[in-house]
Amino acid sequence: MTEAVFNKERHIKYYLRCLKTFLPHQYTSNDSNRMLLAFFTISGLDILGALDSKITAEERKGYIDWLYHCQVPSGGFRGFTGTDFGIDKRTPENDAWDPANVPATFFALVLLLILGDDLSRVKRIECLQWLPKLQREDGSFGEVLGPGGEVKGGRDLRFCCCAAGTRYILRGRSGRGLEGVSDIDVGRLVEFIQACQTYDGGMSEAPFCESHSGLTYCAIGALTFLCRISEDQGHMALLSPGSREFKDLLKWLVSRQTSDLGEDEESDEEDDCPPDRSDGLQRDTNNLSLDEKIALLPNLPPPAEESLHWAGFNGRCNKYADTCYSLWNAGTLVMMDRLSLIDQQRNRQYLLEKTQHIIGGFGKGIGEPPDLLHSFAGLVSLAFQGEEGLSSVDPALCASHRAAQHMESLPWWQETN
Ligand SMILES: [Zn+2]
Repeated sequence: MTEAVFNKERHIKYYLRCLKTFLPHQYTSNDSNRMLLAFFTISGLDILGALDSKITAEERKGYIDWLYHCQVPSGGFRGFTGTDFGIDKRTPENDAWDPANVPATFFALVLLLILGDDLSRVKRIECLQWLPKLQREDGSFGEVLGPGGEVKGGRDLRFCCCAAGTRYILRGRSGRGLEGVSDIDVGRLVEFIQACQTYDGGMSEAPFCESHSGLTYCAIGALTFLCRISEDQGHMALLSPGSREFKDLLKWLVSRQTSDLGEDEESDEEDDCPPDRSDGLQRDTNNLSLDEKIALLPNLPPPAEESLHWAGFNGRCNKYADTCYSLWNAGTLVMMDRLSLIDQQRNRQYLLEKTQHIIGGFGKGIGEPPDLLHSFAGLVSLAFQGEEGLSSVDPALCASHRAAQHMESLPWWQETN
């Protein structure tokens, strides 16, 4: 077989089309998630090493100004400008209708870092005072504050991760300038996250739900953010090699790699069903003996060597591979320092030969058009594996190490004497 080829120039073209022309109409319903779409686009171009050469200084300034335009006066960022009714009309009675949003705040801050901004216009103290108000009794975080300061939005690990990431960026290593600013309850957040580990080792959206790779990534991302700036967080079982929690999670993550790619689905429509199989499905089997029923089951051949050439990842048991899980699973394993346990070669072959699109970008699965989420996920997964031409990526920030280093140059990241 020929070597799988990473088509870097086409990916750059794809991202530039997304950034500088209109997105396809399917994105219309995502208007309120523009901050997230911006994150995928700008971070993707940065990881491709094309940000400096493909955008002008004026464009960069325009993007930064747009981000600050999304900052609400009381701290935090909105997900798009559509709710902004203007500073003159804003009052304490109506500001719940134009709320700062936890994920948008995290993505806005990472975007500013990627674009090289010094965060000097970020309402740092206001944002860090707003964050604890989003935390619930059980330690979890909501998405926005509704009327009367009520915590609104799902009770799940996505918001825990974005809240921990926002705190990480703005508190920094030294916490300089934050005397008297109340912090989130880290202990209760850790307790909530640990309670989300299920019987099979994976992490679910909330205690007693089904394991899911995306939420597992969020859980380990949140813990990683907490640990990086607090040395007293060493007791976290999920991040401690040798603990049962760590081993169970590892086993579950590694088991997500699969050669079940879902590619037979489409070809089934063209091929006729084998006669014995369709016959068996339509027949009334109530009067048959057990042996006769077993004889009617379709023949499922074991995987041939050829079909094992490609192995992506799924996000839950018994699901087909999907490009985004090459990021969620591999990213979690990078944070656990165990990426070497997966078959990286077959993941690369899956991404480059099965979901990389001819116009650039990656689709969700085989034959699917590229979209921003899956294009970003495919790119980052390859970056974790050291693909030539891609910048190395911080697995928790999902941004280049260059952006992470820029963050560490900010005043509150400097060690205090
Ligand atoms: Zn997906």
